[in-house]
Amino acid sequence: MKKIALHWQILIALILAVICGTAFPDASIGGLAVTEVYDFLGQLFMNALKMLIVPLVMASIIVGVAGIGTTEGFGRLGVKTLGYYMLTSLLAIVLGLALVNVMQPGLVEGRPLHETVELAANTEEKLAEVSEHSTDSVMQVFLRMVPPNIIAAAAEGQMLGLITFALLFGFFAAQLTPQRREPVVRFWEGVNDIMLGITDLVMKFAPLGVFALVAKVFATTGLEAIVPVLWFALTVLLALNLHTFVVLPLLLIVLGRVNPVRHFKAMTPAMITAFSTDSSMATLPVSMDCVERRAGVSNRTTSFVLPLGATINMDGTALYECVAAMFIAQAYGVEMPFATQFTVVMLALLTSVGVAGVPSASLVAIVIILNATGLPVEGIGLILAVDRLLDMCRTTVNIFSDSCGAVIVARSEGETEILKA
Ligand code: ASP
Repeated sequence: MKKIALHWQILIALILAVICGTAFPDASIGGLAVTEVYDFLGQLFMNALKMLIVPLVMASIIVGVAGIGTTEGFGRLGVKTLGYYMLTSLLAIVLGLALVNVMQPGLVEGRPLHETVELAANTEEKLAEVSEHSTDSVMQVFLRMVPPNIIAAAAEGQMLGLITFALLFGFFAAQLTPQRREPVVRFWEGVNDIMLGITDLVMKFAPLGVFALVAKVFATTGLEAIVPVLWFALTVLLALNLHTFVVLPLLLIVLGRVNPVRHFKAMTPAMITAFSTDSSMATLPVSMDCVERRAGVSNRTTSFVLPLGATINMDGTALYECVAAMFIAQAYGVEMPFATQFTVVMLALLTSVGVAGVPSASLVAIVIILNATGLPVEGIGLILAVDRLLDMCRTTVNIFSDSCGAVIVARSEGETEILKA
């Protein structure tokens, strides 16, 4: 019998999860609530993905950077990557801003929405929780780049510190005499291959993991939660879709000169994993695997562009922050002159760099934007009910943008084996 390709298996699992989660939210298996089973399986899949991150990122960056060798090569890759990140995040935010101004989701028949829609019951609790975690300011991002203890950084999932260390390690490995360099680089090449092998194994379970994670969401968050803020959810979804299916493919065609349909196909497993895990960081091993093995980008480029992207490039998040802040302003009848809107754009850009690639991380950044622009912070209670579902979508966009960056940078570096089939 012909085996169904992995991306189809995952897609089918996703559809089945939506159906089962919605149709049988209260089912039980042998006395055990089905949501508990989903929770267990989902957590197992998330743990397996997270387990891969530190060794895979370390090995991949060291091998990739040791192959770049020269300071010029390194600098060029850095400038292109950061330039792409800035450009796409800005495009995403401006797109969100335009749509939120046109669609005005915060008004119902011309009246501010907060007069008719109640805040979520857990708003206070969530705000207290959110204010405990802070998103990094730009200064803090720089501080995190140089961690005092590399082991602690790895243990705490402080990827930026780990990335800096791996970049330096790879760079200086390249400067060694061949006799010293070779055993070191070979060792990390071996580790890299082993980690890709384990990633493949974990991905074999992706259909089950995706099913459990998504079914849990649909079984516990009824779709009726969206109704009061449906227009807001639609604005975000439309903007995210335009960014994913128009803006980024155009960049792939114009800057990368590749076929975007092929890229979508290559990235399907990673996109669905991002959708179900809500976490760019947990998806990183899968997106590295897809970009390298399915899209054909070299390890040198993948290892440089993707870990950095999962940490600092979040188009979907930046777009969401901007739309959410503007929505809350509209919902409370607050006028937003051009200068304030500009502040929102800048803050969305800067905070999206500091937001961690974990579920619901945007909420922290939105609170910062609301505080900085004098908007009512409790307005966040209007979006809590739909945050989880929208998080799934924006995380998918976050990782897709990183992968487009890898393809575009690789093409500009003269790579020719990309998206050949
Ligand atoms: N969950 C998102 C991510 O991991 C971050 C966010 O927007 O909350 O990319």
